Amino acid sequence: MGVRRLSEVGRGCRAAAPRRFTPSWRAPRCGAALCCQEINSGRAGARPSSSPALGLTLLLALALLLTAGSAWSKRIYSYQDEQGVAHFSDRPPSDATGEVSEQLIKVDPKKLVFLREDGPDNDKRYSLWNGYGGPIEVLMRFEDSANVISEPVLPGTRVIPPQQHSLILQVQPLDLQRSWSYRWSYQYVPGDPAARPDPNAEYVLPFNPSLPLRVDQGFGGEYSHSDAHSFHAVDIAMDEGTPVRAARAGVVMAVENDFYGAGTNLAKFGDRANHIRILHSDGTMAVYAHLALESVIVGIGDRVRAGEQIARSGNTGFSSGPHLHFVIQRNSGGTLVSVPFAFTVDGQRIQPTQGKMLGGQ
Ligand SMILES: [Zn+2]
Repeated sequence: MGVRRLSEVGRGCRAAAPRRFTPSWRAPRCGAALCCQEINSGRAGARPSSSPALGLTLLLALALLLTAGSAWSKRIYSYQDEQGVAHFSDRPPSDATGEVSEQLIKVDPKKLVFLREDGPDNDKRYSLWNGYGGPIEVLMRFEDSANVISEPVLPGTRVIPPQQHSLILQVQPLDLQRSWSYRWSYQYVPGDPAARPDPNAEYVLPFNPSLPLRVDQGFGGEYSHSDAHSFHAVDIAMDEGTPVRAARAGVVMAVENDFYGAGTNLAKFGDRANHIRILHSDGTMAVYAHLALESVIVGIGDRVRAGEQIARSGNTGFSSGPHLHFVIQRNSGGTLVSVPFAFTVDGQRIQPTQGKMLGGQ
């Protein structure tokens, strides 16, 4: 049994031109998991089985697919106390008397979804834990099957509420006197497919509006905002460490906070951008991406207000310069698509077109 988190698909984002007040600044490019599709998938299956009543050996093998290559990181502090005893901590020590050294170590990826299997072989039940702070839709299908029935009939879908463990699939032999076999797979997508964007929703600037910041790639940006999940994304150039604010109230669905480093090698950095996904009241979700290492100050399930600081901007993942990638998405029948939006500043709706200066009032 196993769950595999696939590398999330992403493409780069890019800004067209330097900000006018920093002439030497290099236009950023970005891309990432977060930019994008965030479809995760897992695969599990039961291998041919036969009725124990027939005296045949039951074979049950669920494919365990290892987590894809990239590693997460954690900052570790080490120091010696007065007695010369070495200490290691993931927080800066308050009582250290000597030198404190700091290093980044790789840690395991966070998993938010777990598959569980229960029941006898002739009445197998599969359930899924949804660790997201919002609903996910699970899409299931048989890879192959013989002499089995299932509830729901596959291909089929289930929506699992946040932070819940739900039965998603039950499989039984159709005729117990004959052998049966099946393999099945699933993938899941954040968000409820029934959600409909509120056309009157307002989005404040995701940063202090006194800062004059430039849109370096807008909707349909030719460098990377061409796929459905990122078509209506914007890249806003900002120095690393700039406080990022929630553009709209919601509940934190997912957080990635432990990546460090950036580059333009898509294979190496494509799925290594820190980001926050926030669920809105209409079921749409905002993604704030390329955040600085360990700068996220909200957690899964937290409610945030519009304008509330949630992190600091950075340059993590597939990116060649500091910026914030911001996109509104919804689950459209098992795939993430981006949703057009405008920022509201002083009661005015502002389209975030490429080259536009936002803020600075
Ligand atoms: Zn982007």
